[in-house]
Amino acid sequence: KLHNENLELKGNIRVFCRVRPFLAEDGSNTEGKVISYPTSMDALGRGIDLVQSGQKHSFKFDRVFVPDVSQEDVFEDISQLVQSALDGYKVCIFAYGQTGSGKTYTMMGKPGDPEQKGLIPRTLEQIFKTRQFVQPQGWKYEMQVSMLEIYNETIRDLLATNRSSSDMLRTENGTAGKQYTIKHDANGNSHVSDLTIVDVRSANEVSFLLERAAHSRSVGKTQMNEQSSRSHFVFTLRIYGVNESTEQQVQGILNLIDLAGSERLSKSGSTGDRLRETQAINKSLSSLSDVIFALAKKEDHVPFRNSKLTYLLQPCLGGDSKTLMFVNIAPDSSSAGESLCSLRFAARVN
Ligand code: ADP
Ligand code: MG
Repeated sequence: KLHNENLELKGNIRVFCRVRPFLAEDGSNTEGKVISYPTSMDALGRGIDLVQSGQKHSFKFDRVFVPDVSQEDVFEDISQLVQSALDGYKVCIFAYGQTGSGKTYTMMGKPGDPEQKGLIPRTLEQIFKTRQFVQPQGWKYEMQVSMLEIYNETIRDLLATNRSSSDMLRTENGTAGKQYTIKHDANGNSHVSDLTIVDVRSANEVSFLLERAAHSRSVGKTQMNEQSSRSHFVFTLRIYGVNESTEQQVQGILNLIDLAGSERLSKSGSTGDRLRETQAINKSLSSLSDVIFALAKKEDHVPFRNSKLTYLLQPCLGGDSKTLMFVNIAPDSSSAGESLCSLRFAARVN
């Protein structure tokens, strides 16, 4: 069983490491024990060792989820964070890791299997359930959802209903048909011009929107070379709460982000468009790391403007907002190099 103590005492940035199970696709690469969990640090499920080229590297995170930890148990450890958003906090939850390491599984889960639902559907269920509980105390909530993708430093609206195919082709060439520009308002919120924002009243309505977004992503995929693993997916839920008896008001934001695959240039053998793609991903992932690192170190200058992703999320990353980074790891021996890079990335921001 997992433990919840001490989490609230820590700073605003936490890092959870999740190792996925071996899959049939891993094939013969499963041999060789790459990842282990040291007993000394393991009492709270926080240590992880990785062996690469005969050398052992040890890491410690706020939590390490071993391969057989269920989606339900992972969610149990973040449900407090979801509650924070209802209490008016700004929350970001990221999934970081190479393609195939379990980011989308962690965020969305396995389609069609309720047991394997991921963080996004479980979060929505909790939020809409809690909303009913607090109604007798006078709380009324309004919720809005938007979903976008950042590909090659260009924003695509995944809920736009009338995106033309020429619009998509131009996006493929890196110059968007519609200019989705990011602006920050006086209240410290960020807005994306032209972005579709939908009022939602139930978890079912959001499921419907998630399907629409998934469809929008997969339509792009055929034209854009598996774009979904090459782009950042940002799910945003805005929460407006008013207590009708006390006139108290809260505004929370919850961002759930399935990041682009973190695999390095050499492995993808990039040239041309692929190279440009990889450079854009590297740039935004390293900007994210720089921003979280600067925030953790309480540095005066935080380089939010270096990428679209960090500029968009700026209001939800600083101040008293809460950030959780999942670093997803594949257990097979051929992924050891990438896994080590991911663990180092996560250790830097932890
Ligand atoms: P990514 O989004 O990082 O590219 P995926 O989430 O698509 O990776 O995961 C790759 C494969 O591994 C998928 O088939 C997914 O269902 C499976 N998978 C990932 N994590 C788990 C897990 N914890 N338990 C079972 N299967 C998993
Ligand atoms: Mg994915």
